[in-house]
Amino acid sequence: MQCPSCNYTNTRVLESRSTEAGQSIRRRRECLRCRYRFTTYERIEFVPIVVNKKDGTKESFDRSKVLRGMVRACEKTGISPQKLESIVDEIEAQLQQQPKQELSSTEIGELVLRYLRQISEVAYIRFASVYGEFTGIEDFVATLQDLQTEVENDENKEDWAFCLPGTNVAEDGSSIITTS
Ligand SMILES: [Zn+2]
Repeated sequence: MQCPSCNYTNTRVLESRSTEAGQSIRRRRECLRCRYRFTTYERIEFVPIVVNKKDGTKESFDRSKVLRGMVRACEKTGISPQKLESIVDEIEAQLQQQPKQELSSTEIGELVLRYLRQISEVAYIRFASVYGEFTGIEDFVATLQDLQTEVENDENKEDWAFCLPGTNVAEDGSSIITTS
């Protein structure tokens, strides 16, 4: 791994740990020449997930694009980039585990929204306003009402529990795939 500061190629690993979903490993490294410290992520390379866009075109799932959208939605909310990175890990793991190989951009947007709703209502509304492409104030109000209803429904439920079709979340937080 090349040092981002001086380009030297020898670094030592100070710390390694799995991210929440166990799908990637975060490594804290130190350059052996200039002592610059930086972080790398190691991830399993998966079969690409195909996303069907609203305009009828297809593209492969791009985690950095999702992360950018989330970072924008979370501006000035105090939510750390590490938190968002770990949410994207969760989302990607979830997408890899669900049985369909193609998903609509709307399904992915809704998945992101379910996570954002747990951490920030402001981020939720911002993301929904971009992803949901509100056509007018009525849509916006309807989304706010959905949020209100979902928050009320969720008050006694486990956080992070969300379901794509055919997917359930077990008590330990792992996903169970049920195929029909
Ligand atoms: Zn260096």
